[in-house]
Amino acid sequence: MVDLRSDTLTKPTAAMLAAMTSAEVGDEQYLEDPTTNELQRRMAELLGHEAALFMPTATMANQAALRAQTTPGSVLLAEERTHVLVYEWSGPAIHSGLIMRGIPAHAGRVTPDDVAAVLDPDLGPGGIVVLENTHRSSGGRIWPLDEFRATADAARERGAAVHLDGARLFNASVGAGIAPCEWGRIADSVTICFSKGLGCPTGAILAGSAAMIERAWESKYLFGGAMRQSGVLAAAALYALDHHVDRLADDHARARRLAEGIGLDATEVETNFVAIPDPDGDGEVRAADAGVLLGHLRPGWLRAVTHLDIRDDDVDVAIAALSSRLVNTV
Ligand SMILES: *Cc1c(COP(=O)(O)O)cnc(C)c1O
Repeated sequence: MVDLRSDTLTKPTAAMLAAMTSAEVGDEQYLEDPTTNELQRRMAELLGHEAALFMPTATMANQAALRAQTTPGSVLLAEERTHVLVYEWSGPAIHSGLIMRGIPAHAGRVTPDDVAAVLDPDLGPGGIVVLENTHRSSGGRIWPLDEFRATADAARERGAAVHLDGARLFNASVGAGIAPCEWGRIADSVTICFSKGLGCPTGAILAGSAAMIERAWESKYLFGGAMRQSGVLAAAALYALDHHVDRLADDHARARRLAEGIGLDATEVETNFVAIPDPDGDGEVRAADAGVLLGHLRPGWLRAVTHLDIRDDDVDVAIAALSSRLVNTV
């Protein structure tokens, strides 16, 4: 089986595990874990912010960012299939009392007009706009910087904060040749996930102002995410920063080759996702019969995701299997 369901399937490499076992550790909650402290320092700098906080998951990082920057009863605006709206179990409503407003947007890119239409200027501050880069459900699409800035400006004009869910921001960075801090500093807070293409077993970072990170600590305790010798996990993230970022270009090249190989438009493949139409809803089963596991992208669409554990010959196998079983019939 060639398993293209998700880039979360990567397993830690032997070298990553070695970095984890040799990590210097202490108690994170006493601020005495040197490896966690080093990761936070490095990530704040990489993302163009004052401070950063290590979190067990990107879901928790997102929820802490929302809770730190909003007032209950205010609005969270995001594209309708954004992770915080559809995969976080209504966390924004439950943890932060937010009204969750999802709107359709091409390639996941909420526009300044969308912001103006949804956020009422009379409501005052307390709301938040969440922008995802890369945008998962549109197929790993990248936000152009100028559009990102324009939407962020529109949000701030209406008193809303801007959260960047950059779970796959390094994919965007490598795909576009733009440093992560270029998007990062436009937003008030940024989440990074280490357990996707970066290949760690778990772990995430939340970056923002020192004051925002101070408030996020409260949520880290509240949600049960304050850890102890977290340096074991932070070491995996530091290893990934040094060894698994540049190689994302290989995942992107393989995704493009897969798209071309099965007759799809490769210009839409900007990172490590291939969006595959599935109008009859049986594509997943037919692909599995042919030896390829696909994941869900959005209604009517499947995804093939390349990652650390997918090699060139896996792509060859997937092309042969999918061209005979899937795309020919759509
Ligand atoms: C995977 C993902 C998350 C959540 O990451 P976890 O670390 O698994 O909680 C958040 N946002 C986006 C866009 C993701 O793809």
